[in-house]
Amino acid sequence: MTGQRIAIIGAGAAGLAAGYDLARAGFEVVIYEAGAEVGGLAAGFKDSGWDWTLEKFYHHWFANDDAVLGLIDELGASDRVLLPRPITSLWLNGRIFQMDRPNIVLANLRLPISWPAKVRYGLAGLYLKLTKNWQPMERVTADAWLRKYMGDEAYEKLWRSLLIGKFGHHYDKVNMAWFWARVYKRTPRLGTFEGGFQAFLELLADRVREQGAQIHLNAPVECVAPVETGGLDVHSGAGAAHFDAVISTSSPQIMQRLVPDLPEAYSQQLGALKSMGAVVVILALKQQLLTDGTYWLSLPSEHPDKSQSKFPFLALVEHTNYMDRAHYGGDHLVYCGDYVPPDHEYFSLSEDELVDRFVSVLGTFNPAFSRDWIRTRWVFRVRYAQPVPFVNQSAALPDLRTPLAGLYLASMSQVYPWDRGTNYAVEMGRKVARMVVDDLRTK
Ligand SMILES: Cc1cc2nc3c(=O)[nH]c(=O)nc-3n(C[C@H](O)[C@H](O)[C@H](O)COP(=O)(O)OP(=O)(O)OC[C@H]3O[C@@H](n4cnc5c(N)ncnc54)[C@H](O)[C@@H]3O)c2cc1C
Repeated sequence: MTGQRIAIIGAGAAGLAAGYDLARAGFEVVIYEAGAEVGGLAAGFKDSGWDWTLEKFYHHWFANDDAVLGLIDELGASDRVLLPRPITSLWLNGRIFQMDRPNIVLANLRLPISWPAKVRYGLAGLYLKLTKNWQPMERVTADAWLRKYMGDEAYEKLWRSLLIGKFGHHYDKVNMAWFWARVYKRTPRLGTFEGGFQAFLELLADRVREQGAQIHLNAPVECVAPVETGGLDVHSGAGAAHFDAVISTSSPQIMQRLVPDLPEAYSQQLGALKSMGAVVVILALKQQLLTDGTYWLSLPSEHPDKSQSKFPFLALVEHTNYMDRAHYGGDHLVYCGDYVPPDHEYFSLSEDELVDRFVSVLGTFNPAFSRDWIRTRWVFRVRYAQPVPFVNQSAALPDLRTPLAGLYLASMSQVYPWDRGTNYAVEMGRKVARMVVDDLRTK
């Protein structure tokens, strides 16, 4: 043991990955988690009669998510990763359009757009898949780039409505590097963990504890304060404790609140970062909804004001068209998910009102659907769910090392240009852990 103490705020993928490396490096690690379980945004829950947990917010990995799949390998659990090839689709011209069946090329040839538009769409897509040169793309908006290179027809028909769905009124200010990252990284195989993401996160938490680290659940940190003689005090419900270094994996806004002593310029940088919230209704149905076997169906949003769009949400995800419903007591599990600004009415509607709105359109996708099919339902909402990357976002990103000695921030907003994901949370958690080790060793 080094005798040095490190606090980590948050037991999501980033906090657990950092804790794993720091505990193995011989530091005394204490993880504070506000929630009742580990896992953060990727956490799952289990209904009675289910063998597996289900993520509160739909989750899968891409086959090239090397950071998280590599960590699972280190834990000796690669045999528990499942990587099937589910059907992903778009709602186009009033019907489900399968995007990569029988393969992506043939699917694109069948797109309901003109031949010149198909050629431009295909070439632009190929370029995005092959290039690694994302930096120039962050200087333009996705809206401008896609119109210019993919052409108005394909952009208007296929992508604009999805950008609106994801980013609302920010949609035409999001930079092209974000869009590039989505296309570049996507793989047709989508991965999960036997037992659900929660089973992976619990396994990681167990290994963190085995290395001697403590994880305090239901332990929200209220304040972090630098101490004149060195190090920082962490104040939580359990009292104050002193640490040589503190890593926060909370949102930038929470970090601002937790550390009143943050220098003004850094604090303002945190406050300027924008993000969207996420709202999800999960239905346990007695029958299959998407009978063509689609797992993921993206729905168009015509207008940033969702009440003016045909569909009140963006993603219809039938989880049991991806994973066998036998793991869930035979339930057919369907997510209806949307991204909205943190002050949107979806956060103030009652659960019943939200469920009513979302369920009202399900007959569009299966005319036989009836509310009697719903065995039960759950609603999950989170205000910090999707960072919004504007033009020249790199310059707006706060450093992982804050200006206060020994204090670090490793939040979802900083994995840019990648879109948020557990893969990048693990990568960043391990990166910040290396940084802390280097800094403490040279102190
Ligand atoms: C709708 C949706 C869909 C997604 N889909 C995918 C997907 O398909 N694949 C994928 O890999 N990723 C997906 N993600 C993203 C993924 O969930 C996140 O990128 C990842 O979980 C972030 O991990 P993290 O540790 O950085 O943050 P979090 O998971 O947010 O963890 C931070 C933790 O800090 C805790 N905390 C905050 N404040 C305090 C405090 N004051 N004191 C103590 N604890 C505190 C929180 O409770 C939380 O547990 C999705 C996210 C959403 C919202």
